[in-house]
Amino acid sequence: MAFGILFDVTGAFNNLRWDSVLEELERRRCPGNLWPLLADYLDDRTVALACNGIHVCKKVKKGAPQGSILGPDLWNICMDPVLREVQDRGGEIVAYADDLLLIVTGGGRQACEDQGQDMTRLIARWADRLCLEISRSKTEMILLKNSATGGKKVTRAGGKRILGEKRVIERGNLTGSLIRKGKGGARPPCIRISDGEMGIHCKEEVEYLGVTIGTGFSIAGHVEVVGAKASQLYQRLASLARAQWGISYGAMRQLYSGVFLPTSLYAVSAWGDLVTSTLGDNLQSSQRVALIRICRAYRTASTDLLQVCASLLPLDLECMRWRLRALIRKGQSFNQLGIEVREGENPRLALRRVDCGLWKRWEERWSNSVKGKITREFFPSVVHRLNSEHIELDHYVSQFLTGHGDFKAKLSGMGLSESSLCACGAEETTGHVLLDCERLECTRVELKQWLSDTDPLASGSASSGGDEGDIRGVQEDVSSPASRKAQARREGTHSCVNPRQSQY
Ligand SMILES: [Zn+2]
Repeated sequence: MAFGILFDVTGAFNNLRWDSVLEELERRRCPGNLWPLLADYLDDRTVALACNGIHVCKKVKKGAPQGSILGPDLWNICMDPVLREVQDRGGEIVAYADDLLLIVTGGGRQACEDQGQDMTRLIARWADRLCLEISRSKTEMILLKNSATGGKKVTRAGGKRILGEKRVIERGNLTGSLIRKGKGGARPPCIRISDGEMGIHCKEEVEYLGVTIGTGFSIAGHVEVVGAKASQLYQRLASLARAQWGISYGAMRQLYSGVFLPTSLYAVSAWGDLVTSTLGDNLQSSQRVALIRICRAYRTASTDLLQVCASLLPLDLECMRWRLRALIRKGQSFNQLGIEVREGENPRLALRRVDCGLWKRWEERWSNSVKGKITREFFPSVVHRLNSEHIELDHYVSQFLTGHGDFKAKLSGMGLSESSLCACGAEETTGHVLLDCERLECTRVELKQWLSDTDPLASGSASSGGDEGDIRGVQEDVSSPASRKAQARREGTHSCVNPRQSQY
């Protein structure tokens, strides 16, 4: 069994007494010149408040303000003894500022309870000594793993042993029954902060340093929380970009890499290896919100084709990338995705191999995907899209690349247009508008002529200044039928039903 207790010290930094700090320093034989210096620094201090002509002064004898230069050190000096004491007694304790996490592991519940109670008593005594209070209501417990002894099946019904049928509980997977109350539920460990009090609350989810951990090390809750947070944040920032106006495609991508990814993948090296395929799908669902904004695409476009159109790695693979990148930075070895990275290998080369492995995985997904028939005609492989950096998406280009847009064949299929026919009489599909429609023949001929005269891709690097202008010109020409249609609709001269309901 393993469980964690997250201790909350009430007003920790504000209630740290200076005489306790000085006592601890003296006990640790602080050098003779430093101790008087600090004692003098902490002596005779007052806080003054002036408001509406009234001045109030008060002597201060405690407090280690967070954010001050000396504050965290004063706190650490006082917290160090309890960390050492717990560790010396075989306990596992982690602390960051006043966030204290005790991990208790052992064979059976009784042994764990005894060990946890011993350690908790140590921590409570330390808090007493420093005149600090451990908040009973905010201190929480989480079950991380249950006893895995035996792997023996026991058959029970309502607490009574029965033969054969009904509920079968497998030992080693009892975490659920430990937090379940009433019939069929087992009692979670009972640890008291002080004698005679109720035991510490056993929660299904706790938050430690911004990471939500669930019973049995589940991070489903964390993925949900960060997904919602990143999507909302991105939505607010990207509200500056609507279908036909707003910040550029490049700026949207910057926001994605600078805001969306760091929010979604915060502390990923701690939880990334717990991502299951279901959680990977959840990560991609939250990515979808950002993708629709970046592509300025219709909401009906599926996530996998949006990822390819925006040339952005699926979020579950990005999560893996961040996690492996952290391992590479630490110089650790690993063997994942069929890539073996050895300890101390050149980080740049190692990361490149990881990237290749992830792109390969993405490529497999794209080739196995049944969606995006039209997108596949433009980008048969992910590499095609990655090599076409010059294509910048906007509301009209996205419609052609995804096939989800102002095309009557598509709209009538969704019940948004009465007819699926173009004004020329043929079925109005993406291919028809782009390649066949006789009404656009003049534009098409002009574009072909222009392309044969000046091949923007063949005339040098696509990323150089002059060529970018050419490519943008081509994109505008290609998207002009769609933009003209939108213009006509705004002016009320287009017969189709307004597709705004399905628009992003
Ligand atoms: Zn037509």
